[in-house]
Amino acid sequence: MGRKFFVGGNWKCNGTTDQVEKIVKTLNEGQVPPSDVVEVVVSPPYVFLPVVKSQLRQEFHVAAQNCWVKKGGAFTGEVSAEMLVNLGVPWVILGHSERRALLGESNEFVGDKVAYALSQGLKVIACVGETLEQREAGSTMEVVAAQTKAIAEKIKDWSNVVVAYEPVWAIGTGKVATPAQAQEVHASLRDWLKTNVSPEVAESTRIIYGGSVTAANCKELAAQPDVDGFLVGGASLKPEFIDIINAAT
Ligand code: PEP
Repeated sequence: MGRKFFVGGNWKCNGTTDQVEKIVKTLNEGQVPPSDVVEVVVSPPYVFLPVVKSQLRQEFHVAAQNCWVKKGGAFTGEVSAEMLVNLGVPWVILGHSERRALLGESNEFVGDKVAYALSQGLKVIACVGETLEQREAGSTMEVVAAQTKAIAEKIKDWSNVVVAYEPVWAIGTGKVATPAQAQEVHASLRDWLKTNVSPEVAESTRIIYGGSVTAANCKELAAQPDVDGFLVGGASLKPEFIDIINAAT
């Protein structure tokens, strides 16, 4: 069976109740392919998860943008995987580059988070990607492989994991990877999974691209054989997100 196209919207730390309602209305009214063709998951800030989940069309799902690395308890400010499960939130984004860079999340910490979230029944969008400096030094694949390895060492079952390749230099910069650049890394990542995990996992795991995806550039990216969807930041707050959901059709 082919890999179902996946489009995630990462709203980051944005939105007021009014803005959130507007975005949900746009999503609910948009013309999109059926859910057996494209899977859509939007990720509002924690505080808006219940309202978005309750108002969003039922074929779209929600994701948290992070969760704690183990069982909840005395961890002020954190939200546990158990809480997300309790709220009926099916997905979580882990290892986003903003958290890696600004909050010092290491590869190992992200690997632990992915393993714990999966163990609690969450599905995970696991983010990997190189900085501009690393790309210019020719170490893109080495960096991405190390990030993926830290996850692979902690998990056995990849069926609830989507890998998001998000080059840091493309996130929020308007500087999108070319379709060839995205395809090159996605194909290498799939090859890494084939060699280091299994051919089955390599074949079935969705590898999505993130970094300045817009309505204008999504079709060409979606046409690449190893690009199985997108993780969208800025454009997921705008009506053009509907066009991105339609990118593969
Ligand atoms: C992101 O933060 O995951 C992202 C891809 O952001 P943007 O689309 O704004 O570059």
